[in-house]
Amino acid sequence: MPDLQIERNKSLLAMNTMALDSTAEYFCSASTLKEVHQALSFAKDHNLSVTPLGAGSNVILASNLSGLVLHLGLKGCESAEVIGGADGSIDVTFDAGENWHDMVLMCLDRGWFGLENLSLIPGNMGAAAIQNIGAYGVELSSLLVSLQVVDIQSGALFELGSEACQFSYRDSVFKQSLKDKYIITQLTLRLSTEPNINIDYPALSAYFIELNKDPTPQMVSDAVCDIRREKLPDPNKLANVGSFFKNPVINQSALAELQCVEGKGEVPFYSQPDGSVKVPAAWLIDKCKFRGAQRGGVGVHDKQALVLVNYRNDANNDSAREILSLAKEIQATVKARFGIDLEVEPRIYGPV
Ligand SMILES: Cc1cc2nc3c(=O)[nH]c(=O)nc-3n(C[C@H](O)[C@H](O)[C@H](O)COP(=O)(O)OP(=O)(O)OC[C@H]3O[C@@H](n4cnc5c(N)ncnc54)[C@H](O)[C@@H]3O)c2cc1C
Repeated sequence: MPDLQIERNKSLLAMNTMALDSTAEYFCSASTLKEVHQALSFAKDHNLSVTPLGAGSNVILASNLSGLVLHLGLKGCESAEVIGGADGSIDVTFDAGENWHDMVLMCLDRGWFGLENLSLIPGNMGAAAIQNIGAYGVELSSLLVSLQVVDIQSGALFELGSEACQFSYRDSVFKQSLKDKYIITQLTLRLSTEPNINIDYPALSAYFIELNKDPTPQMVSDAVCDIRREKLPDPNKLANVGSFFKNPVINQSALAELQCVEGKGEVPFYSQPDGSVKVPAAWLIDKCKFRGAQRGGVGVHDKQALVLVNYRNDANNDSAREILSLAKEIQATVKARFGIDLEVEPRIYGPV
């Protein structure tokens, strides 16, 4: 196996944005499809489990990882006009290791629109489908045509259409029945060559009302970046994984009960197409007075209650245990006060 370097006992401290001190029993970074296959053969020959890793911005590495951690570093991007499709659409295929935000900017530059609202989301293209990334009123699922995947067990390479991914809010088949079954090596998105502005999301519409200008796609991207920088900590400066909890979805009667207790109109919510409502987890956590709270070396960000942060970034830290303990404290307090269960968004590796 001459071109694939397999390392033993590799520190992942610099490879996860929560800066947790975890070690991979075996580690390699694949930059071609051939290397992905070589890595899977190595794992099979040595009877090792395989954990794919992108930029580590949605994982809590709460223990050392046994088996092979396979970093996806494949780079490349191709575009193709959509034959027989709607006018002005283009299919763009990205390799898994490309950085998400770099690709958003590249697409804007080339006049391929649709990704503006998803600007500045950390992480790589390959992981975007795992939790159906979304922000400012747009989800990946609305743009995804297909994925190229490799079966971890058999090494078979094939394509999965959008339907097969069973996307929903921060969820997909890859977090459910196909969890840990496939490596995503490419994803193809259908973008538009005509601007299609979507500023319905309240924070965005407020931004443009204030600006008093008709937005271009570039302006939407810039606005999203501005808003995000204002309220989310930069993981390069303060370790975090973005939203730690999903926004809970509850039914109308549960909402009515909450409004009774909190006062009518007090509880913010977003109506969902099926009649249910999404309540901002940040509001629930804020109401329980966790914003800015600190426990040991970790805490809740002071501008966004949904973001747990790790103030340390050194080796041998105890932050993973503290983060999980703080998360449990928040979940128990929110449950006791509102009767609502908060679900953790990032994937936790290790004891829960
Ligand atoms: C500051 C901040 C803000 C964020 N904002 C948002 C937001 O607005 N919206 C949103 O949806 N998310 C957000 N996130 C979460 C995160 O950016 C996304 O989930 C992103 O897609 C994770 O990409 P990654 O490459 O870092 O994945 P990783 O953290 O490396 O991996 C996440 C999971 O996917 C698996 N995986 C990774 N790559 C592959 C692959 N190629 N094939 C198969 N499995 C794979 C891993 O095994 C792991 O289970 C934010 C995170 C941060 C730190």
